[in-house]
Amino acid sequence: MGTEKSRKLFDEAKKLLPGGVSSPVRAIKPYPFYTKRANGSKLTDIDGNEYIDYVMGYGPLLLGHNHPAIKEAVIKQLDDGWLYGTPTELEVSLANEIIKIYKSIDMVRFVSTGTEATMGALRAARGFTGKNKFIKIEGGFHGAHDAALVKAGSGATTLGTPDSAGVPKDFTKNTLQVPYNDIEAMTEAIEAYKDDVAAVIMEPVLGNIGPILPKKGYLNDVRAVTKENDVVLILDEVITGFRLAMGGAQEYYGITPDMTTLGKILGGGFHIGVIGGKREIMEKISPAGPVYQAGTFNGSPVSMTAGLAMIKTLKKEKVHGKVNSAGDSLRSELSDIITDIGLDYNVSGVGSMFKVFFGDMPSNYQEALKCDTAKFNVFFKKMLDDGIFLPPSQFETNFLSLAHSKDDIEKTLKAYQRNLK
Ligand SMILES: *Cc1c(COP(=O)(O)O)cnc(C)c1O
Repeated sequence: MGTEKSRKLFDEAKKLLPGGVSSPVRAIKPYPFYTKRANGSKLTDIDGNEYIDYVMGYGPLLLGHNHPAIKEAVIKQLDDGWLYGTPTELEVSLANEIIKIYKSIDMVRFVSTGTEATMGALRAARGFTGKNKFIKIEGGFHGAHDAALVKAGSGATTLGTPDSAGVPKDFTKNTLQVPYNDIEAMTEAIEAYKDDVAAVIMEPVLGNIGPILPKKGYLNDVRAVTKENDVVLILDEVITGFRLAMGGAQEYYGITPDMTTLGKILGGGFHIGVIGGKREIMEKISPAGPVYQAGTFNGSPVSMTAGLAMIKTLKKEKVHGKVNSAGDSLRSELSDIITDIGLDYNVSGVGSMFKVFFGDMPSNYQEALKCDTAKFNVFFKKMLDDGIFLPPSQFETNFLSLAHSKDDIEKTLKAYQRNLK
C-alpha cells in the first residue's frame, strides 16, 4: 500500500499540532493514514487505499459511516439554521424519547461531549449529596477532565494520584479508585469514607481498556451497596448506551442507576452528551438548582436532529438484534481461529463490541495490562497493511456496525487468521 501523501501530511502536521494530531490515540506510528472520505464500513485515505473500519469513530457510528437517515435529517435541519441560542422543540422531543427508553431517567441536560456529561453528572451528584468524594473503577475512562483523569494506582482504596501532568494533586484527592469486578474493594472504599462519598461512576462494561465484562451479579452488588449507603450510582453509558440495547447496559443487564451519562452512539456521529437521572438530582442543575452547568452548544439543533434520526433508525432497522448477533458469531469464529492456531489468547466482548486480548482473559485493569502489547502492535500493523483498520491499541474496543457486510467480516476473519499466525 502506498501511503506517501499521508506520510508527508504528518510531517507537516507535527509542526502544527501537538504530536501531529487532534486527539492522542490517532497518532499511529510511524504515521497515521489521512482519511479523505468514509462510507458504510469503509474509510478511504488520501492515497486512495481502502480500509474496513472497526474503529467507527471510536464508538459513535453504530450505523456505519454516512448513513442516509442521519445525513438527510441533518441536511434538512441545516436549511433552517444550525445554532439559535434559544430553546427548540427538537430538544423536548429528544428528551421525551430518551426518557421513554431509559426508565431510570426522569430529566436530561444536553451537552456536547461525553466529557462534559460525566463532569456535569459528578457535579450534580456532589451538589445533591453535599459530599465530596467519588469512586471510579481503575481503567475506567470518563473523558479528559481533571477529577476523572486518574487511572494508575495500587491499593484498592488508595487516594487518587493524577495521571496527567498539569492536574494538581488537590484536584484528584477526592477521586477514589477500586478494581473492576471487586465488590469487596468498593464496599471497603465506601465504608472507609462513609460520610463523604457522593457517587460511584462506572462504565457498566469497561470499554476503554477492553472490553472487560462484568462478572455475574457484580453490577447488582454495586447497585445494592451504593443504595444502602446513599451513594449516587452514575452509569457512564457513553459507549454502551444505545449500543448494547436501546436502553443500554442498564437494560441489557437489568440494573437501575440514579444517574446516566450518554453520548457517542446517540449522536450518530455528531457531537452530543447527555446528563440524565432522577428528578430530585437533576433539579439541582441550574437554572432549576444551584449546580452550575452551561454551554453554547448545549442542545445543538443539529445534534438533536441527529439524535432523533438515530433513535428512529435504531428502531426501524432493528439494529441491535442484527449487530449483536453478528458480534456473537464474529467472536465465536475468532475463538475458533485462536484455538486452531494454538494461541493462549482470548476473545472478549458483548453485543457489537469485541477484542482479542493477547493473553489471559482479564477481569480488571491490572490483569489487562499483562497482555503482550508488543505483539499486539506488530499484529495491528499487519492488519492495517491488509486494509483492516483496528483501533491502534490493545486497550481500545473494536466496534462492529450495521454497515459491516458478510464479505467484510469474511475478509476480516481471514486477515486475523493470517496475521495471528
Ligand atoms: C468516550 C467516552 C467519554 C468521553 O466522551 P467524549 O465525547 O470523547 O468527551 C466518556 N465516557 C466514556 C465511557 C467514553 O467511552
